[in-house]
Amino acid sequence: MFAALEFKTMLFMSGLLAVALSILLLAIHQRSAMLKGLKYWVYANLLISFAIISFIQQDYSLETRAFLGGLLMVSGLFMYLVSIRIFELHPLNLKLIKRAMAALVLSNLLISLFSNNVYVSVVFNTALCMLLSLASAIYLLHYSRYKHHGEHQFTGLCFIVFTGFTSYRFYVLALDSVNPVEHLTAWNLNELTFLACMLSVLAINFGFIAMVNEKLVELLEQSTKLDWLTGILNRKNLEKNAEIMAAQTLKFKQSHAMLLMDLDKFKSINDTYGHLFGDQVIQVFADLIKDNVREIDLIGRYGGEEFCVLMPNSTESEALILAERIRQKYEATPILYNGEAFKFTVSIGVCDSNKAGIYFKNMFSAADQSLYVAKSSGRNQVVIFSRLNLE
Ligand code: GH3
Ligand code: MG
Ligand code: MG
Repeated sequence: MFAALEFKTMLFMSGLLAVALSILLLAIHQRSAMLKGLKYWVYANLLISFAIISFIQQDYSLETRAFLGGLLMVSGLFMYLVSIRIFELHPLNLKLIKRAMAALVLSNLLISLFSNNVYVSVVFNTALCMLLSLASAIYLLHYSRYKHHGEHQFTGLCFIVFTGFTSYRFYVLALDSVNPVEHLTAWNLNELTFLACMLSVLAINFGFIAMVNEKLVELLEQSTKLDWLTGILNRKNLEKNAEIMAAQTLKFKQSHAMLLMDLDKFKSINDTYGHLFGDQVIQVFADLIKDNVREIDLIGRYGGEEFCVLMPNSTESEALILAERIRQKYEATPILYNGEAFKFTVSIGVCDSNKAGIYFKNMFSAADQSLYVAKSSGRNQVVIFSRLNLE
């Protein structure tokens, strides 16, 4: 089937398509600051396209083509791996990336200088390509948070296919030592593996674009659920999730608890230091709650400077411990304004479903009454609902 098709044209068209997909990714990158790592994917595509151009450039010597093409190809595959990790929000270790790139260039230079045989550097770079694409596949299929998603599995499988073709190339080159250099000039092996690899690269790109699409949908869904300033649940979703928690409490005959928190004298913080600083205080407090609750607890911003925590399978006394911890830590947290540190306080009302009733309305009303007592008794304190009933 391929006999009728011209090899170099196909390779060139595939390279062109990879560049076109890169431009598409670049456009998405420009539009969404929330998506990370797309830039590195574009670098990877460009490096691989240049690698293919270097390989098929007949104007230069075989040594130059093999050296440059191999180096660009390995760098491109390394960039895919870097891009995937940043895309999944692993922190970028620029120092490590620079060191790895320097080691790659240095090892290629040393091989070229000492072996004096282009065959050795081709085998070396083929092995690196094999390992790097295998690493991307293993990451997507085994370590990624989204490893069960079809988009990740498809891209991972495309990397496996790429690894398969490079392994075949490595096998033929490494095991047949009769006349190794002939393999490099005999285009049969090159035609087959270059074309197969380039088609896998295109499939990998389609997979990655599907991953980007999936992430954009997820971000869109999140933005309708979360509070824009703090990234915690907004009021509507807190109430929706609270009803699910109530149903679970009923089903498993447990109790759940609520903390209702209102920052003290917040109006005067806004009036004295301005609304921007007020927003910063809200963010600091939201981060403090996030750092202190369990994974299963729900946090929501109920009003301007009012926050609510719902704790499944918990009692009032357990919620009191958390509330006291939050109150004390907030009281001790310095927040900087024009280089000067200020500290503020919070009042908290606490209740559980045993005493208040399991539905959100009942619990909110009980926690709100407790909060009112905390405020009227001088602020910066925690009041539990059962104490109210006793008084
Ligand atoms: P108290 O100790 O009794 O709670 O006093 P307070 O000053 O905190 O009183 P109150 O709860 O009534 O004040 C809330 C203020 O929060 C009023 C409003 O201007 C401000 N606010 C509401 N939402 C935001 C916001 O998103 N950002 C900022 N900076 N301020 C907000
Ligand atoms: Mg308030
Ligand atoms: Mg307040």
